[in-house]
Amino acid sequence: MSAPQPVRGTRDLIGEDARRHFHVVETARRLAATYGFDEWSTPIFEETGVFARGLGDTSDVVMKEMYSFSDRGGESLTLRPEATAGICRALVSNGLTQSLPQKVFYTGPMFRYERPQKGRYRQFHQIDVEVLGSDSPLADAEVIACGWAILNELGVAHDTILELNTLGDKASRDAYRTALIGYFSDHKANLSEDSLTRLERNPMRILDSKDEGDRRIVAGAPTIAPYLTDEARRFYETLQAHLIRFAVPYKENPRIVRGLDYYSHTAFEFVTTALGSQGTVLGGGRYDGLVEEMGGPHTPCVGWAAGVERLAMLMANPPAAPASVVLIPAGEAAEGAALDVLQSLRAAGIRAEIGYRGNLKRRMERANKTGARAAVILGETEIARGVAQLKNLTTGEQAEVPLAELVAKLK
Ligand code: ATP
Ligand code: MG
Repeated sequence: MSAPQPVRGTRDLIGEDARRHFHVVETARRLAATYGFDEWSTPIFEETGVFARGLGDTSDVVMKEMYSFSDRGGESLTLRPEATAGICRALVSNGLTQSLPQKVFYTGPMFRYERPQKGRYRQFHQIDVEVLGSDSPLADAEVIACGWAILNELGVAHDTILELNTLGDKASRDAYRTALIGYFSDHKANLSEDSLTRLERNPMRILDSKDEGDRRIVAGAPTIAPYLTDEARRFYETLQAHLIRFAVPYKENPRIVRGLDYYSHTAFEFVTTALGSQGTVLGGGRYDGLVEEMGGPHTPCVGWAAGVERLAMLMANPPAAPASVVLIPAGEAAEGAALDVLQSLRAAGIRAEIGYRGNLKRRMERANKTGARAAVILGETEIARGVAQLKNLTTGEQAEVPLAELVAKLK
């Protein structure tokens, strides 16, 4: 067998790639916690119906991107293409529809059969926040403000803008739908195959088409604004007032509809100019039908998902490689004492290592090569006197330090 390669559209995370990736995840986790979100984890695969019903059968994801397979028992399962449907399934499965709202933070790998390119993979990762069970525009504002805080903390906010839209309530959408059917029917001859299907089942989804020809037609399509009910307009205005209060800059974009079939009221994307055609780093909105699709009661929700890979790529300053303190016993007899010191440093939260083999010279070379920040050199005479040689590997300075003061010196 020739050496196996990673599957097309998947990648290994090692070194700086890994540091960028986990920095994004940890930053999001930390900030989401300050907004009161609790982290959930659900299985990586679900019954296919969870996604097929959940995302709506006219979404791109369901129409052509799902990794579905029959397991050995003949059941149709799907590797999750996104987190929201599984979260809503879990809300119902765990009987939590009686304890609302639930504020959920989520992160993990997702799977979509797409053409791989920069910022687009077949296994990728998302961070995700959802408020389950609130119909207040304050929930929308909070979810968006949390996303904005994360982008700021990651240092990627400067060339990113929030594009905001409303899809109104059902009455607004019904009226708008009629207007869209009228408009797109006049352009039937030039619509893509996919959009002809959407025209029958969910014409609003045509606004989200990536087909060049469709996009030209979409440019002249009516917007929803004149079809909004008073209530829908009030909801949208309240959300905007909250966003201003939370100091989240935005611009309105009447073309944002998002990928699921079940969005209502709020739809938004954070778009960057720095990633070419993979410009959406974070997208979400309000969805009211998903929990019902999972067999639960009517439960209004709002949330977003962001691609970790795209955020990791945008981050200007990757976190530095961590630097260890390295223990260097001078001779075998000093090894035991070196292990004691090693443990005491680790217990104090200091990253500390010891080479597994080699004489003093080799160990010193290796400490320098791996970018260690300091070396603690222990010989028998030092041990007898309760001291060590502490060498700062950045400056090259070396000094004798009592063992009892080592932690304080290295902190
Ligand atoms: P796109 O328009 O780029 O296909 P999408 O509308 O399919 O995005 P969502 O389903 O809303 O994306 O997922 C939210 C975020 O997850 C996206 O904004 C993007 O950052 C990320 N994402 C989606 N698909 C991929 C992928 N195949 N590889 C990497 N990141 C992805
Ligand atoms: Mg997509």
